[in-house]
Amino acid sequence: MKIQNYINGTYQNPNSQDWLENFNPASGEVYGFIPNSNEVDVEHAFLAAKSAFPSWSQTSLEERSRILINISELLEAHLERFAEAESIDNGKPLTVAKTIDIPRAASNFRFFGHAITQFASESHETKGFSAINYTLRQPIGVVGCISPWNLPLYLFTWKIAPAIAAGNCVIAKPSEVTPMTAYMLGTLCTEAGLPPGVLNIIHGSGEKTGQAIVKHPNIKAISFTGGTKTGATIAKIAAPMFKKLSFELGGKNPNIIFADCDYDTMLETTVKSSFSNQGQICLCGSRIFVEQSIYTKFKSDFIQSVKQLKVGHPMETDTDIGALVSQTHLEKVLNYMSIARSEGHNILCGGHQVLVKNHENGYYLEPTVIEVNTNNCQLNQEEIFGPVVTIMPFETEEEVLNMANASNYGLSATIWTNNLKRTMHFTEHLQAGIIWVNTWMLRDLRTPFGGTKSSGLGREGGFEALRFFTEPKNVCIKY
Ligand code: NAP
Repeated sequence: MKIQNYINGTYQNPNSQDWLENFNPASGEVYGFIPNSNEVDVEHAFLAAKSAFPSWSQTSLEERSRILINISELLEAHLERFAEAESIDNGKPLTVAKTIDIPRAASNFRFFGHAITQFASESHETKGFSAINYTLRQPIGVVGCISPWNLPLYLFTWKIAPAIAAGNCVIAKPSEVTPMTAYMLGTLCTEAGLPPGVLNIIHGSGEKTGQAIVKHPNIKAISFTGGTKTGATIAKIAAPMFKKLSFELGGKNPNIIFADCDYDTMLETTVKSSFSNQGQICLCGSRIFVEQSIYTKFKSDFIQSVKQLKVGHPMETDTDIGALVSQTHLEKVLNYMSIARSEGHNILCGGHQVLVKNHENGYYLEPTVIEVNTNNCQLNQEEIFGPVVTIMPFETEEEVLNMANASNYGLSATIWTNNLKRTMHFTEHLQAGIIWVNTWMLRDLRTPFGGTKSSGLGREGGFEALRFFTEPKNVCIKY
């Protein structure tokens, strides 16, 4: 099967007729081809977006809202089909795609369909000067959205929905590794009544298609989610052009467990925060720090729970851990097992590739727990982004706070405790954009989402996203 670019409301082959292979991670087989679009394709998309902008930016908020909610409802109506496609393309268990990815993609459109009708700007009465200031929030124009492979449609729509809601026209690129549901989305957008050119979906590699979007002088903002290194490459190109930039990047999130926590809830949630989506979620708690007094118990209970996780074909209903997204990614994660062995860390469980019966060429890996004796090692400092966590004990609050913050990343952190003073101390001093206390991945779409340090720049979510996708213009009137 060949998928196509969605430009100006129609599906089109790439200008160069250059195609990339698309692999099914569960079997390791090529099951389709995707355009490797170049700057000519991006220019076609740009011209379509540019000509759609004057009308779309003047479309009433009610009408934009109605169309976004239509898209959301269509996604819900086609949930099964989209979930299956997501699972095949990404390797994630079908149950995860059905209960998390596609419902969340639908929520993104519904949420921003509602949010735009409530988005308001400020006014300031300047006392003593008989003047009033008000701030217009105007759409930017044509914007670029670039998303990764781990939560394909979920993160793709998390950018597109606010961009469109705010009145922009969009050129969006999903990951070349997981293009399928973004491809399918085009048809639903047309059916929902989205005018041609408002959303253009271009496929291809980061180096070719992604770069063409970033380098385009008239694409005025880039919203990017992906790796920190890629973020730096994009910043180097886009910053001298003064593009607006929003970056959601990598993480190496601490999961801090105190002895006074609600143990059973903590244990169950820690298994999820370690291995959901094969550990390929930027918010996974990949560095687990456990208070010394419960360390031995936790270690034994955790390993027992992890060993019960079933690695299997994504379509099997009892599969907990599906396939990693690609051969390259599997090799990258396996390399950390070699590092663990060569540095003398203790692999407590897992550590090996899994051969799933009848799918021996798929990219499966055992969920892996590694005991490390320092936070200052490669395993604790580099993002592995697979079903791999490290654990180590701590003695004091001071010690664990220092270790949690001793990282280039600062995306999220989780703390398990029932001590209020400690909670307030940690939430104040942890260097992270998102902190969960006694829970994980509990999301309210109105909240600011994003990281500090090398984990990102700016925030997505709620009005933060609508602010990013608009240009404030202040007007001062003297009367
Ligand atoms: P990636 O390699 O950085 O790619 C992300 C996207 O950027 C893909 O669409 C990619 O295209 C494109 N791209 C690659 N090089 C580019 C370039 N030079 N110019 C423009 N675009 C380029 O990241 P990934 O491996 O897909 O995703 C995993 C990373 O994303 C992890 O680090 C994870 O932590 C991070 N992530 C962060 C968040 C968050 O909210 N903070 C959420 C999810 C994931 P190709 O696929 O074709 O290379």
